[in-house]
Amino acid sequence: MKSSALYRRFRTLLIANRGEIACRVIRSARAMGLRTVAVYSEADRDAMHVAMADEAVLLGPARARDSYLNIERVIEAARKSGAEAVHPGYGFLSENAEFAEACAAAGLVFVGPTADMMRAMGSKSGSKMLMEKAGVPLVPGYHGEAQDEATLAKAADRIGFPVLVKASAGGGGRGMRIVRSATELAAAIVSAKREAKAAFGDDRMLIEKFVQNPRHIEVQVIGDSQGNLLSLFERECTLQRRHQKVVEEAPSPTLNAMQRDAVCAAARKAASAVNYVGAGTIEFVSDGKDVFFIEMNTRLQVEHPVTELITGIDLVEWQLRVAFGEKLPLAQDKIRLNGHAIEARVYAENPRKNFMPSAGRIKTWRTPEPSNGLRIDAGYREGDTVSPNYDAMLAKVIAWAPTRDAAIERLNRGLEDTDVRGIVTNIPFLSALVTHPAVRANKIDTGFIERELKNLTPSPAVPGDLELCAAAAAIMREEEKASKAEAHSPWLTSGWMPVGRRQRVFTFRQGQEAERSVSLHYGSGPAKLSIGDREFAFASSPADDGGFDLTLDGVKSRIAAIIEGHELYLRTRNGRFDLHWVDPFGGDDEEQVGEDKIVAPLPGTVVALLAQVGATLEKGAPILTLEVMKMEQTLRAPFAGTLKAIKCKVGDIVQEGVELAEVEPVAS
Ligand code: ADP
Ligand code: ADP
Ligand code: MG
Repeated sequence: MKSSALYRRFRTLLIANRGEIACRVIRSARAMGLRTVAVYSEADRDAMHVAMADEAVLLGPARARDSYLNIERVIEAARKSGAEAVHPGYGFLSENAEFAEACAAAGLVFVGPTADMMRAMGSKSGSKMLMEKAGVPLVPGYHGEAQDEATLAKAADRIGFPVLVKASAGGGGRGMRIVRSATELAAAIVSAKREAKAAFGDDRMLIEKFVQNPRHIEVQVIGDSQGNLLSLFERECTLQRRHQKVVEEAPSPTLNAMQRDAVCAAARKAASAVNYVGAGTIEFVSDGKDVFFIEMNTRLQVEHPVTELITGIDLVEWQLRVAFGEKLPLAQDKIRLNGHAIEARVYAENPRKNFMPSAGRIKTWRTPEPSNGLRIDAGYREGDTVSPNYDAMLAKVIAWAPTRDAAIERLNRGLEDTDVRGIVTNIPFLSALVTHPAVRANKIDTGFIERELKNLTPSPAVPGDLELCAAAAAIMREEEKASKAEAHSPWLTSGWMPVGRRQRVFTFRQGQEAERSVSLHYGSGPAKLSIGDREFAFASSPADDGGFDLTLDGVKSRIAAIIEGHELYLRTRNGRFDLHWVDPFGGDDEEQVGEDKIVAPLPGTVVALLAQVGATLEKGAPILTLEVMKMEQTLRAPFAGTLKAIKCKVGDIVQEGVELAEVEPVAS
């Protein structure tokens, strides 16, 4: 079919996605006057994207295969809601040619390229063959049809180690393994194939030379159905973990103007090779000197906002105009680069525990007001639940400023002023990352995070006088509020107390650290706090952001405090603190959970058993691999011992808290 026949004006748009990107698309579609239809799974009934859309249609059960990845149900939802077009977002069905075809067959406009373009560019192998022909520089490698072990081994030898084994259908850094020597190759292929088969239903592999100290540079392109194609400058996404982007910026601080022109020209050449229509990204790796094509993503990308902030273009609006069949609104020489933008991906995960995903109810979600170069694209609100069924990305914090340094400062401030409770997030890790001197100096490569992990996941800061006093003040404020609600006064009311000094002691503990106490002295004269022999005059007053101002010895500072029973969360100028309030009347001893049992931290699927019953295990030895929220997580021995039992098998779907294995400590 001629591509121009596929694009036409529409008034109702279905967004075949969830989370942050569904919300992002709805915002622009609504601004253009379109009616929006959300789709959702049973786990997402109360999700933010459902609340935002004009209409919403239930697709099916939580599992993506039964809902967001189910082509028939999405098409049926479009029919039922009277939608005329479908925006696929990223992930899910966004690069699925069958889906694009099904949309066309159902008379729906697919907001994206045609199925043919997707087929040509969607497979890494296929696109590399095309790029080879078009004369775009490639990483040396093998991307042939033959997949037998001998062919792959010979190819790897010819290319020379280290090599990267990659799933041709891959995405999101999955199905990819670095192989440093011939002896590791076979095992790497087996595990990459397993991951690729599970994730993409396709286990074909390609092999590439592993570029040393690689940087990731990519170019945003967009084409219309009238033959116009533009590049919208490049992004640098070198800060990655497990081949997944974590922080992205535009423009690349690594390229000079000439290199920028060259990489953008190469990208236009690549996209022109398929007369590309829609938004897309041409990805390159760079060894610091040259850039090599690695793949094209035929969709909007997670990191598109940094391009929007330096060009002033709303990419979703442009995608929709292209889908209307319109001509792109600007010519190449009218696309201007202004300032610098940087984005950080906020995930529900625990960087201090090997980035284990975190699921559950978001009890608190407080982000700073977007303004002044700060943008927050979120897919969740306070009270929402993060389901273990989907990607753990919650939001993106994006900052713009005239210079890179200023943009980094704004981003960091945006991260620092964010409070999330109920689930664990990577926000402190992101702050540590963007303020790291090597990141400031742009002395990084894609292995940076892995190497620097220790410094990026520091132990929590030790609470000082300010934090202990703030904790006591937070409890007093909370008690005062509660007592006002009950309409009778507690100890704070003057006159209630007998004459003379009285004292109340607050004791706190951070983690397993020693307990520390603050004393409140009151009765006659102004109340004071003391820690040891240090005395502090203090006062506190409410602030408009929900926190309070604490004045301690004449210095006022803003405190964010959240109290959940005996658990106190504080954010002061010194960082974030989690304190346990040791209440003398509270009955406090919690039991330690038995650590010899290896339990599923979240619902997941057992994908590999890595040790045998009876085996002697070092502390940290791998026992089994679980797939949780699309990521493989290896569960390890908590201490040296013997593997006493394995209570699951490969393929088991296990619920949170289920015991999977048992380790017996070595007698010492
Ligand atoms: P890539 O990593 O493939 O180069 P992106 O950086 O744009 O491209 O990331 C796309 C990834 O986003 C997908 O591979 C997937 O892991 C993740 N993802 C997909 N859908 C969603 C969603 N609705 N919310 C959050 N993350 C998603
Ligand atoms: P995905 O579809 O998962 O995004 P990519 O081919 O884009 O797969 O690779 C993901 C990341 O892995 C890249 O962003 C880059 O940092 C790294 N990478 C890919 N190919 C190479 C290579 N040949 N040498 C070094 N690093 C690479
Ligand atoms: Mg990629």
